[in-house]
Amino acid sequence: MRFDVPARLSRNHLFTLRWVFCHHSLNRSGEQRCLALLESCTTPTHIHQLLSHLTKTGLSSNLLIITKLISICPQLNAMEIAESMFFQSPIRDAFLYNTIMRGYAQLGDPHKQKSIHFFSLMIKEGVTPNKFTFPFILKACAGLLDINLGLQIHGFVFKLGFYQDEFVGNTLVHMYGCCNGGIDYACKVFDEMPHRRNPVCWSALIGGYVRNGCSSNAIELFRRMQVDGIPPDGITIVSVLSACADLGALELGKWIDMYIERCSIPRTIPLCNSLIDMFAKCGSIEDARRIFDGMPERTVVSWTAIIDGLAMHSHGGEALELFLEMRRSKIQPDDVTFIGVLSACSHAGLVEDGCRYFDSMVDDYGITPKIEHYGCMVDLFSRAGLVEKAFQFVRTMPIEPNTIIWRSLLSACKIHGKLKIGEQISKWLIKFEPNRCSNYVLLSNIYGSMSQWSDKAKVREMMNKQGIKKTPGCTLIELNNSIHEFVAGDKSHPESREIYKMLDEMGKKLKMAGYIPRTTNVLLDIDEEDKEDALHQHSEKLAIAFALLKTPRGTTIRIVKNLRVCDDCHNATRFISKVYYREIIVRDRNRFHRFWRGSCSCNDYW
Ligand code: ZN
Ligand code: ZN
Repeated sequence: MRFDVPARLSRNHLFTLRWVFCHHSLNRSGEQRCLALLESCTTPTHIHQLLSHLTKTGLSSNLLIITKLISICPQLNAMEIAESMFFQSPIRDAFLYNTIMRGYAQLGDPHKQKSIHFFSLMIKEGVTPNKFTFPFILKACAGLLDINLGLQIHGFVFKLGFYQDEFVGNTLVHMYGCCNGGIDYACKVFDEMPHRRNPVCWSALIGGYVRNGCSSNAIELFRRMQVDGIPPDGITIVSVLSACADLGALELGKWIDMYIERCSIPRTIPLCNSLIDMFAKCGSIEDARRIFDGMPERTVVSWTAIIDGLAMHSHGGEALELFLEMRRSKIQPDDVTFIGVLSACSHAGLVEDGCRYFDSMVDDYGITPKIEHYGCMVDLFSRAGLVEKAFQFVRTMPIEPNTIIWRSLLSACKIHGKLKIGEQISKWLIKFEPNRCSNYVLLSNIYGSMSQWSDKAKVREMMNKQGIKKTPGCTLIELNNSIHEFVAGDKSHPESREIYKMLDEMGKKLKMAGYIPRTTNVLLDIDEEDKEDALHQHSEKLAIAFALLKTPRGTTIRIVKNLRVCDDCHNATRFISKVYYREIIVRDRNRFHRFWRGSCSCNDYW
């Protein structure tokens, strides 16, 4: 039984007191009394009481009172009263429409459709929207991710001449930035703004770029913002940090960390969480740890970010230690935390711990494993060479394994030489996902490893027939405030000649140190020498050659690769780190490799 009577009593008390007071304050009009009473409504019951009073006093058709009443309904969760008042109102003007649309817009995503509904009613009834109408309605479009609707609303904005309004402009940029395929429209609105753009607008476009995966554009825009002397706020900084994380732009990330300090931008928990994530993904786990350790207060997101980061950097033991500390500090882990924990076990080769944590997640925390958790377990067994066990696990999974799981099993088959099983899985994958390039590449690689060149050629033929192109491997490197991008065999870089000269020199030095190219990685069935050449020009090698040319001796080289690093590039990078005496940090699609003095932090196990 609950005894929360006093609190209720006092709320009701207040309402009753006001009621009595308003009734007897003779120097006020009926309308003023009702407006004052509305202020003290704190439950739907109060509203009902007030409604019967309005009917008695003949004020139930007073537009001012109706509008005010509708405006307080969202926070009392009484939108059905708001709607019935709305339809009872003898006059429905733009102000009344705005109030009900704002009400629904405030109530989160499931109610956004309602705002749109009232907007179309407004147009149908011939009520002209004003400039306050559009920010609500555009925010609703953004929440619904509906660009076609957004475009229609934009048409109204244009027709009614509100495109010059600052707030309308900002929400247009935001709306387009949220919708799939809207980023070009967002830019256009941004560029054509008639007035000086405010920080909100910059922030909206930067956020839009990040959401649409155009991280370099986000950073470029952030630089433009600096040049224009517009101070960024916390929200902008969070967006820019996630762009840095995406591109592996550590220098810019570090600069932003200092900028936050210099401008005394409040280090809120979300901002610190973004910093941890950025530093971890940009390859500086030390900085991520520094930010984490300096946080006076942490949420489950903060803990998850650092655990995940440590796991990616092969600090599995440290990640698990932190997980224990998290439990000691009474922060409840969620399903995302366990993805970090399981991948820590997987990367560190801790099979038994992984199984224990998987069980604990279910038994102690009541978390139902999702496909990602099963994926981690398959990865855990596969990495440890327990391919049969991984198979067994997949077969007994209570949910249907997805293609990601099959693919990771397939890589394991390839690495651990279970080529026959691998061939089966990849044929099945191709049947299931005929348009996915990596399935063909895996099968082709398997035939390559088995030296079945004619089968390999058949795969290639199949790809051509289906019109499938290989996702080009691409490597990013940040140097002197700009991002350089390389693809395999790339000759488009302005310093291409020097880079290829360096590549030749590297090749000679590596061979002298004992490096032998691993030619089975090349997709094409061509003779040995050509194969060596294609390997030689993989994008990560081009990026490293460029870095060796452009950075002072002894400095760390950091690169980001969009795909998994191939065996040969991994091997070559180990040799480069020894021959050139450089620390090289490579982020590939799955994890970090730290190469130093001829060995890698992943222990050649990735
Ligand atoms: Zn490679
Ligand atoms: Zn490695």
